[in-house]
Amino acid sequence: MKIDKKYYSIAIDGPAGAGKSTIARQIAKQLGYIYIDTGAMYRAMGLYFVRENISLEEEDAVTKACEQVDISIAFEQGEQQVLLNGENVNGLIRSVEAGTMASACSVKGQVRKKLVELQQRLAATENVVMDGRDIGTHVLPNADLKVYLTASSRVRANRRYEELIRKGESVSLEEIEKSIIDRDHRDMNRDISPLCQAKDAILVDSSAMTIKEVATHILNLFYEAKNK
Ligand code: C5P
Repeated sequence: MKIDKKYYSIAIDGPAGAGKSTIARQIAKQLGYIYIDTGAMYRAMGLYFVRENISLEEEDAVTKACEQVDISIAFEQGEQQVLLNGENVNGLIRSVEAGTMASACSVKGQVRKKLVELQQRLAATENVVMDGRDIGTHVLPNADLKVYLTASSRVRANRRYEELIRKGESVSLEEIEKSIIDRDHRDMNRDISPLCQAKDAILVDSSAMTIKEVATHILNLFYEAKNK
């Protein structure tokens, strides 16, 4: 008799700059799970539309692009790399503009369908910590733990600002806060899988918490959920 192996999953959703990727990466490392950054996949799709000069208004062109483009992931020293038609685009998708393009193309049903299928396939064969906007509500509805991680928009803007400055980008804090607020608004108000807290997700507000405190808290929540 074949017994299906159980794979564990932790879903972390929340608005831009809440610290999801930093926390998810740490938790995954601690547990020996794979960290899957779904935002990077939307960023790669956004880059593809810009490069190919495809307008998101043109439904047929968007559908065709989704059929043709190949998005996949690989791991280098444990870090997820996003491959766009085989090209590693990790170094090209972290700018504020790439985030805006990702958000713009993520409202498209064809884009979401393609990327959600990839995400579900990955979680079907590995223990994962996955972060995004619709993981607990849509991608992994049966996740073992769902967390909705948030923080005030000022705190989130500050974190993004410091991250980008460290990488040598010249950005203004005000512009980042505005882009975060606009992006959240679009992500929370789109028709398909808008960002919201799943009914069974646990709210964690990280505004006044350190990364270590948040990671420890979520790990404890996971151990509790696992032992139930
Ligand atoms: O998380 P990150 O900032 O990289 O996400 C970029 C954008 O991709 C988000 O603003 C959102 O519009 C989109 N996204 C999404 N669903 C996900 C992950 C990201 O719609 N699961």
